[in-house]
Amino acid sequence: MKKVILQILVICTGLLIASCGQNKTNNETETHSENIVKNSVEVNTPDDALAEMKAGNKRFLDGKLVNTDYKNQIEQTKDGQHPHTIVLTCIDSRTPPEIVFDQGIGNIFVARVAGNIEDPNILGSMEYAVKVVGSKLIVVMGHNNCGAVKGAIDNVELGNLTQLVDQIKPAIVGDTTNIKDMVNETSKNNIKLTIEKILKSSPVIDELVKENKIKIVGAYYDVTSGEVTFLE
Ligand SMILES: [Zn+2]
Repeated sequence: MKKVILQILVICTGLLIASCGQNKTNNETETHSENIVKNSVEVNTPDDALAEMKAGNKRFLDGKLVNTDYKNQIEQTKDGQHPHTIVLTCIDSRTPPEIVFDQGIGNIFVARVAGNIEDPNILGSMEYAVKVVGSKLIVVMGHNNCGAVKGAIDNVELGNLTQLVDQIKPAIVGDTTNIKDMVNETSKNNIKLTIEKILKSSPVIDELVKENKIKIVGAYYDVTSGEVTFLE
């Protein structure tokens, strides 16, 4: 028991230190703001964060990226981070959130796992983002032509992948006469069910959503166009 309490204390202390570093950086950022190119727009509310994510995907689609000065972003974030959003998405190499939302370095947390499903580690990461660091938005992003979703439909069995695709199976909808549609509709349903599971399994997140302090939204990425459709 003592060991557990000690571990909790160590974690809390670490989080407090991270928190202090964040405040310090806020002041430093204000002090030196004239010399710093802002990462993007100021984000104070969940709606601000959502608007910036939508705008970022539009910049990406239009080829008008503004968050590509990585050296500058490293300089701005060296003493702390203030990501406005956490994105949970698939490991698929075609869906990198930092790029497709034009956020670069330091603007968003990203949690990735095949099939963008939640588990206690993902929930813990989200709780850290929204409760400790102060991120305003959780985005659960799936995509079309998802291999993990297809694996669930195909009943893939391989090492630890078996239990992973089992978690996607409750989301399966459609029929096998059109496997492509079935995969994509299942991906969308998987986003919806994952959000429901997050709210059910994390009282921390559920409470923040109910208090309107954060938002949680689904998003669907099209790997053939680069376009993100938000499922609000
Ligand atoms: Zn995928």
